[in-house]
Amino acid sequence: MLTFAGAAKADWISQLVRFERNFEAARTPAIGGSAPDDQFRGQGGIDFGFLTRMLRGKKSMAQLRQPVADDSLLPDLHQSELAARDFSPAIESPVLLELARFTTVERGDTFAGILTAQGLAWADINEINADVNEVFRLTKLQAGWPISFRLDATVEPGAPGRLISLHFEDSDNSTVWVERTSVGYTAHRDETVFTSKLLVAEGKIESTFWVDAQALGLPYQVIKKAEQAQQCVVDFKRDISPGDSFRILFDGLIDSNGKVVDADKIHYVSFDTRKGRREVFRFVSEGRASFYDRQARRSCSSSLSLLREPLVRPFRMSSPFNPKRKHPITGKIRPHRGVDFAAPRGTRILAAGDGVVIAKRIHSGGYGKHVIIRHDSTYETLYAHMSRFPKGLRVGSRVKQSDVIGYVGTTGSSTGNHLHYEIKKNGRHIDPLKSTLPRGQKLTGAKKSAFEDEQRAIIARLDQAEALASPTAGGGG
Ligand SMILES: [Zn+2]
Repeated sequence: MLTFAGAAKADWISQLVRFERNFEAARTPAIGGSAPDDQFRGQGGIDFGFLTRMLRGKKSMAQLRQPVADDSLLPDLHQSELAARDFSPAIESPVLLELARFTTVERGDTFAGILTAQGLAWADINEINADVNEVFRLTKLQAGWPISFRLDATVEPGAPGRLISLHFEDSDNSTVWVERTSVGYTAHRDETVFTSKLLVAEGKIESTFWVDAQALGLPYQVIKKAEQAQQCVVDFKRDISPGDSFRILFDGLIDSNGKVVDADKIHYVSFDTRKGRREVFRFVSEGRASFYDRQARRSCSSSLSLLREPLVRPFRMSSPFNPKRKHPITGKIRPHRGVDFAAPRGTRILAAGDGVVIAKRIHSGGYGKHVIIRHDSTYETLYAHMSRFPKGLRVGSRVKQSDVIGYVGTTGSSTGNHLHYEIKKNGRHIDPLKSTLPRGQKLTGAKKSAFEDEQRAIIARLDQAEALASPTAGGGG
């Protein structure tokens, strides 16, 4: 929170105003004369750059906070830290001045406290506070939000400051405004209306994707979403190098100034790299939008799938997973950490998923002849009571899903031919029949044809989409 007192603040403003009045008087011709020299005026009025520079080093200025928001999202908050302008262009009226001020909500700040720090009168603070509360619940004010003020700079020395208007964004697409009227203050909340347009952005990598995409005029949000879409396909550090190119097809959200501010949907992202083209297509399956490669493989999904019943038929489940199983005679808890499948001796046992054999052991009791496969950093499977191992299977062997890794038997603590099958997830046993198991996320059947239709549509849209206008090209819209 800003700490200096209201009166001191108003004094400072008054000094600035008097300084400016003297300056104006010295250079403005008599009433009715010719207009002031334009070189002293910026777009909005008097150029106060010299005052900004002069005051920047002063202690009070150090307490002005810079907004923390992203440049591209809040461009109007990123102008000079102090600007004052003449908003009453008629020469005969007294010069009215306003000061543009920014502050950032900090933890523990109240709205009234923030207004107090701007040197406003108590009566005004109460009114503004009440007005804002009608359009926005002030308890929801969040630390980090920038607030912009326009203050009346013509207040007399010693008098409280006076607000002309203030605004802050309470979400990505709405802004809360307070404005002074002839009868007091009024607050309203404006929803920003975005239009959507199919756009394609094509660029070449000269330094990094982020830098080059920004240079192309893509807003932060769009770059972030494009990167997320590709994060499991492209290694941005190793795969992308200067000379590569990228293409992003998206529904751009365009604000009232014609500026692309975000993407409603990213349809397609491709990178042409030394290692070939890496592309992802957006597709909705079972109500969920994901990105898939040309072969209908979902990006960012585990390629691992595990079988619930890793053996060739015929078999039947003879004993379920039961971590609290009691011994029928002693009554002691003897957990059954796997599932038993009764099957004829010699039935082929299959690797539940791709992986590496990490154990191939023969125990006289317990598991008997058994194999353990590690699939990834999360999953391991164990297959027990085998009659024998296949030839060539070793610790360290790489196996593919459904490779034969053993044959049903009754070695170890076993009363009949069966496979005892366990799955460990992060070191803990899970029920092979009831737990959610990783499934390879490749579209098949009708879903795959639907994806292929969408893929063709996306490729056609790449040619139909309007090219994102480069900010340096001078165009726009
Ligand atoms: Zn068992």
